[in-house]
Amino acid sequence: MAQHALSTCTLCEAACGIVVTHHEGQVERIVGDEKDPQSLGYICPKAIALADLHHDPDRLRRPLVRANRDEPFREATWAEALRLAGEQLANVQHTHGRDALAVYYGNPVAHNLGLLTHGLAFTRALRTRNLYSASSADQFPQMLASERMYGHFGLIPVPDIDRTQYLLVIGANPIVSNGSIMTAPDMRRRIQDLRARGGRLVVLDPRRTETAELADEHHFVRPGTDAFVLASMLHVLVQEGRVRLGPLGPITDGVHAVGRALLPFSPDATASQTGLSAEVVTRLARDFASQSSSVAYGRLGLCTQEHGTLASWLLQLLNLFAGRLDAVGGAMFTKPAFDLLGLLERVGVGQGFDRWRTRVRGLREIAGESPVATLADEIETPGRGQVRALLTIAGNPVLSAPNGQRLDRALRGLDFVVCVDSYLNETTRHANVILPPVSQLERGHYDLALQVFAVRNGAKYSPPVLQKSPGSLHDWEILTHLSAWLLLPKHTPESLRTATLSAALKVTPEHILDAGLRAGPYKLTLDSLRKNPHGIDLGALTPRLPSILGTPRKRIRAAPPRCLSELSRLAVTVHDLEPASDALLLVGRRHLRSNNSWLHNSHRLVKGPERCVLLVHPEDALRRGITDKSLATVKSRVGEVRVRCALTDEIMKGVVSLPHGWGHTHAGLRMGVAQAHAGVSLNDLTDDLQLDRLSGTAGFSAVAVVVSPASQQDPPVLPSEAPHE
Ligand code: SF4
Repeated sequence: MAQHALSTCTLCEAACGIVVTHHEGQVERIVGDEKDPQSLGYICPKAIALADLHHDPDRLRRPLVRANRDEPFREATWAEALRLAGEQLANVQHTHGRDALAVYYGNPVAHNLGLLTHGLAFTRALRTRNLYSASSADQFPQMLASERMYGHFGLIPVPDIDRTQYLLVIGANPIVSNGSIMTAPDMRRRIQDLRARGGRLVVLDPRRTETAELADEHHFVRPGTDAFVLASMLHVLVQEGRVRLGPLGPITDGVHAVGRALLPFSPDATASQTGLSAEVVTRLARDFASQSSSVAYGRLGLCTQEHGTLASWLLQLLNLFAGRLDAVGGAMFTKPAFDLLGLLERVGVGQGFDRWRTRVRGLREIAGESPVATLADEIETPGRGQVRALLTIAGNPVLSAPNGQRLDRALRGLDFVVCVDSYLNETTRHANVILPPVSQLERGHYDLALQVFAVRNGAKYSPPVLQKSPGSLHDWEILTHLSAWLLLPKHTPESLRTATLSAALKVTPEHILDAGLRAGPYKLTLDSLRKNPHGIDLGALTPRLPSILGTPRKRIRAAPPRCLSELSRLAVTVHDLEPASDALLLVGRRHLRSNNSWLHNSHRLVKGPERCVLLVHPEDALRRGITDKSLATVKSRVGEVRVRCALTDEIMKGVVSLPHGWGHTHAGLRMGVAQAHAGVSLNDLTDDLQLDRLSGTAGFSAVAVVVSPASQQDPPVLPSEAPHE
């Protein structure tokens, strides 16, 4: 008889409640859980992929190993694979030093309870400076702006979207992402509700996105110039005497210093840079300040550009100066039942900025990590501290890091590669050992990280939907096994190693979750969550400042010195319009049925019209002799792809757009569906030298490219082959 299990979709930040119908290990149906207090029955088309991933014949169930990477993989027992991986990685650190082992972890770590409870501590305990993650290709600028202003990387306020009257969205597409650093399932309903109560949605973006289609106003903004727009809006607030700090005034420092630094950024001065007229910027600033409530929200487009940290800081200042920070209907802080940020602070994980610089390019350390844009440098450049081995955890940096082809080549030069991953993909094809964990449906779930950014306080634990298959291991168990090799001294007797391991394996993610819930502000227990399988609603967000600030004397730093000096630097360039050239500016985009690089092996999600196409404005196309659906060659400083074009005025003139996460064209993959819908990789064009200056985060937006017609006869542009499989 079929069973119905209540669970949580772990594919994106929305964390929707789901009901999974299954029978004898086969998933028959996934629908939304109408009693989930956050998602109220909503799911997006991606939820079905949980079943597709679980049943995917290409998903690895057993470890794959090979001593020599010129050989094909073979299946191995867990004992053999874990010993080989552990011994070899430990040898590299013992022989060449701690930094010789690099670790990269991908975005799915944030959606995995066991990797958060066990993985973060494990990777930090390796004490390598070559620790990388998807954060430096995503949200580090927002985290750094928060750390500078509020004293903690994780103190990023979220829009109080259900109570605001005015939502300003810059460089984000929440209709498709369903919120990002904003856990808010069913964004379409929330925006419809906003408009139904008389509120306004305003979107600034170089593309008329799915969110912009719902907006009261959308304005094109030239990619990479968000900091100019925000500085001008703040300039208007300051010059017109509209700064209202409200109750935060007595605890805020640096307001006058910011005001002085904003002087060069009048809307007239920045209009030619941004493409946004002075009249529009001035009106937007006045509208923002004069509403009964308002909030500004920005995401990936805002972060992943040369001025990403600056733009993120200015966005926070806009909320602060308009009196919207920590205010109902403004930008507020969640009160999670499990205080992850407090725990990280206590154990010293994810702290610190610029305590050291990377070996080759001298980029700043951020939260104990190095920027992924420099991973290839650290592998290729000889010398003390050179990376010789790599451990990846749920990550595919060949497709998600800038200049992916260079990284792909660099990985071939490593001595040893271990990947904790479910697929033989563009990165794991370089492995000596692949250690595949259980599927999403076989593990318990609590949104430890994402509840920190929920637009409503809540707590929910979902037990595994399906029993894990015999002989399989959870991600956290795999890392615990590796830690017995990597964290114990080299000559530890075998019996002691085994005893330590079996003691460590007794501490499960659920044990840590229960302890954290008990210590949290609501004094919940895991048992209380098990009794409420739809989840517990803990109420609307409430003001939390200053008690949660991590700054000395709990004050808000409106003018962090590094941000202020970046603003002064930007001021010098206010009138520097680049000369007209043949180059167009490339930006990425995301689709609802896609999630970075790892959902393309679900036929149900990739079927239909080709999605990996280049959006080109008709006037730009006409000038270049490009027609709709024709092939074009796109060249940047680092690479070249050939891709089909779609002509549309949804994209700003002078800008082109490619979705990210595609490019399944490499040799040796084992992802049949994805390979049949390969597309091209955006990151074969993005530039590993184009970074946010302060955080080192990849500058994916505004990459200069030359686009020209390609004929069917031109040879295809393919990544160079590797001698695998
Ligand atoms: S929005 Fe879609 S992918 Fe994200 S959690 Fe909900 S159902 Fe899953």
